[in-house]
Amino acid sequence: MPKAVYQSARSLASSTSMTPEEMEKKFIVPTYAAGGVRMREGLVFDKGVGSRVYAEDGSEFVDMGAGIAVTVLGHGDKEWAAAVADQVGKVAHVSNLYHTRPSLELAEKLLGSAPGMGKVFFSNSGTEANEGALKFARVVQNARGEGLRDRFIGFKQSFHGRTLGALSVTYKPGIREPFKPLLIPNVDHLPFNSIPDLEKSIGPDVVAVIVEPVQGEGGISPARREFLQRARELCDEHGVMLIFDEVQIGLGRQGNGRVWGYEEYGVVPDFVTLAKPLANGLPIGAVMINEKTYDSLEPATWLGTHGSTFAGNPVAARAANVVLDKVLAPGFLENVAENGRYLIKGLDAIKERVGDRIIQVRRPLGDAALYAGLQLPSAHVPDVIKHCLSKNVLVLGAGDTGMVVRLCPPLVITKEELDIALAALEDAIMTCVPEPSPETVAAVKADNELAGPEAADAEGTKFTVEMPVATELASTSVEDYEKKLNALEHTKLPEGFSIGTTTFEFQPEELPETANPASMKITVIKPDAPTDMYGAMFTQNAFPGAPVRVCREILAERGPLGALVINNKISNVHPRAGGVSDARAICKRTAEVLGLPDDVAVMPSSTGVIGWRLPVDSMLEALPNVKSDMQSDSVLPAAKAIMTTDTFPKARSAVIRDPSSGTILGRVTGIAKGAGMIEPNMATMLVYVMTDIKADGEVLQSCLVDAVNAEGSFNRISVDADQSTSDSIVLLSSGKRAALDKSFERSALTAAVRAVCADLAQDVVRNGEGTEHVMKCKVEGAPSAKLAHGIAKAVVNSPLCKTGIAGNDPNLGRIIAAIGSYVGKVNPDFAKSVAENCTIHVGGELVFKNGEFDLDSEKEVKLIKYLEDCQLPNAAGYPAHYKTVDITINLNPSKQTGFESVVYGADLTDTYVEVNAGYRS
Ligand code: PLP
Repeated sequence: MPKAVYQSARSLASSTSMTPEEMEKKFIVPTYAAGGVRMREGLVFDKGVGSRVYAEDGSEFVDMGAGIAVTVLGHGDKEWAAAVADQVGKVAHVSNLYHTRPSLELAEKLLGSAPGMGKVFFSNSGTEANEGALKFARVVQNARGEGLRDRFIGFKQSFHGRTLGALSVTYKPGIREPFKPLLIPNVDHLPFNSIPDLEKSIGPDVVAVIVEPVQGEGGISPARREFLQRARELCDEHGVMLIFDEVQIGLGRQGNGRVWGYEEYGVVPDFVTLAKPLANGLPIGAVMINEKTYDSLEPATWLGTHGSTFAGNPVAARAANVVLDKVLAPGFLENVAENGRYLIKGLDAIKERVGDRIIQVRRPLGDAALYAGLQLPSAHVPDVIKHCLSKNVLVLGAGDTGMVVRLCPPLVITKEELDIALAALEDAIMTCVPEPSPETVAAVKADNELAGPEAADAEGTKFTVEMPVATELASTSVEDYEKKLNALEHTKLPEGFSIGTTTFEFQPEELPETANPASMKITVIKPDAPTDMYGAMFTQNAFPGAPVRVCREILAERGPLGALVINNKISNVHPRAGGVSDARAICKRTAEVLGLPDDVAVMPSSTGVIGWRLPVDSMLEALPNVKSDMQSDSVLPAAKAIMTTDTFPKARSAVIRDPSSGTILGRVTGIAKGAGMIEPNMATMLVYVMTDIKADGEVLQSCLVDAVNAEGSFNRISVDADQSTSDSIVLLSSGKRAALDKSFERSALTAAVRAVCADLAQDVVRNGEGTEHVMKCKVEGAPSAKLAHGIAKAVVNSPLCKTGIAGNDPNLGRIIAAIGSYVGKVNPDFAKSVAENCTIHVGGELVFKNGEFDLDSEKEVKLIKYLEDCQLPNAAGYPAHYKTVDITINLNPSKQTGFESVVYGADLTDTYVEVNAGYRS
């Protein structure tokens, strides 16, 4: 053996007696931590389970860093580990000279998850993915032969990797400057989020713009939606390639139920790069290429343009397949969003308590991500990291200023683990970060502005919408439910409203005198002063009730509105004498009782039996009692008084907050009644949403239209496929709080009204007549939004699907019957493709593919259990849980680039029939 080799083997043999720090110093190039110390002397990790890692001495840590946003499935995921072990045992590497199955399957799955993307190139890391995208951008430009383009555009505070090409577009001067001259000499780093700078800089000499939708290393700063949308427009205008670096934010980190960051922005880039989370810790990266961009060149153009020995390695690809299967499984991203909201809410609450020791809680758009940055007023991040470590919690820093703590835990982290981390963080901040002087606070805020002239405009930094997640209302009794509604502040009225109710008995004139008397409740909602700040939407039914017709006239005139008057039991729809004069009489009396001037309108609503006449005299007599009941403490009496066959009251309240000061800018509170005859086509049933924020009627109207049509909201539900004659939704403002800044007024109000409406709508389904299961039917890959929506509705409205589910009977043939019947009717050309290609998952189980059911006895048992688990107790006066029967239909699984719709529906039980067979009694 040659001497040199013998000596090096000897020094390795002595390593067992060395500390880790000594070994690192002796053997490893010191590019990382100073002096070989990584976090804490002697700390060596050797095991991980879920979101916890364990040191050699057995101490346990909650992992809020996930190995720098990598281990999304947590540590030691069993299926992941088994797949990797299996693949290593089979074949670990053959190179790209040959096929292996895992990378082919991975490519198909990735593109299936990424709307608009048509091809993928695998790499081994994030920086290599970016190298690939930068090269491919040149490939496209060179092939187009439109003259020399030599400029690239990146952004301040960006990070794209440390290889020479990616480093050229990276901003961080500390790591870039020492390597000049760089591989790409001509790069402009523009201020992030500045549209004027984009407009000035993007031109026909630019090859590509590279941008992180949420800057990670730069301190968790989200791009504004308009900023990326404008970037897309300008790139299109000038033939410039747009690269989204989603190495950190991609595959679920964006939160809000999104797989990819670009989906949140409604922008499809030419290239998307990804890496960190893809194989849960094994090295891999990828560049996805926009289908149209790829197709714009002859396939031969791409030949030989790039390559890598390890890329697409079967072990890493096999691991990545498990990651994708799990991240894309129904419920996974919803859970991320739920826990993300929990994390962000927890951080906002800490900020409220510690004041300016945290300048900003930064988070991606949507406020529902397991990803956040805490900007401190001073460079105390290393102290905070160490303090958290002493509390057995791992957190990271971001950027090179030492001022942003980064939180990016595994996406499977639990609320209990988040609680541990939040407690450690709060303690660390109070201990390590001195209270800053007002001058320091002002200077840091000014720096934030300087980082990009519009950085402070970034959505998500100007306002946050806070509302507890629905599942927090899951209850065990009526008392428990009401306690929770109160404790979570859902019953809190916005400022400047009062409400009153009264109950009385009467004899419906359409029934024989011998019939039992009926009971009616009247509710009045009153802003402190008449207001012209309101919007409203009504049923599309051709036989609308008299109140709807009166309300439409009021809305058309847009005069001042003084109150809303609502009754249950009788809906005043086409009764004898027409009903309009009755409705007007009730409104007039309400105005008198409340002392409203003559020119002030009162909007009526009625719900209940169709065709009967209102007991006008009894109502006029009862109305003064409402006045003496008026109060401003709680919306709950109104939520109860508008109920008909509902078994529990529905109320939700959200606040809009300025995250930089922590101040509440205003509140939005809504109540709804539902139960039956529910398949709205604008709003539904009776819904009243109040806010104290001043806003023009026109703004409120457009927020309402948006909120009603939004995902999960009123126009996306069905209890029994019958559209009511009385559906009404009103949004009104008392104007007690200042108007929001114009730059975010619409987005903030819409977000808050949407949050309230979507939750109320889903409660309406959960509390439909006799509802024992809530179905959530998602249709993906449709050629049009209309078809996606139509199919989802066809399934949730199919009496056979509904009764099967009611009986916990997974009679899944009924689902294809419903889909086929609808598609055959409305789009016969598409019918064959649907039948051949669609896949159906129920409760995450694949039950149908390639035109065949994939069922067996084991699945049957699983599905029965699943349905039983989703069942709600019959007619309980509270929501016992928020589980849904998830049915996912993918019409085009090989692509998934089409349209999507989610519709919530109810099952059909004996109780529904019972309630409606005897409704008028
Ligand atoms: N791009 C972004 C946005 C990143 O956050 C990173 C790593 O932090 C990279 C690229 C580089 O990835 P890698 O370290 O895998 O080369």
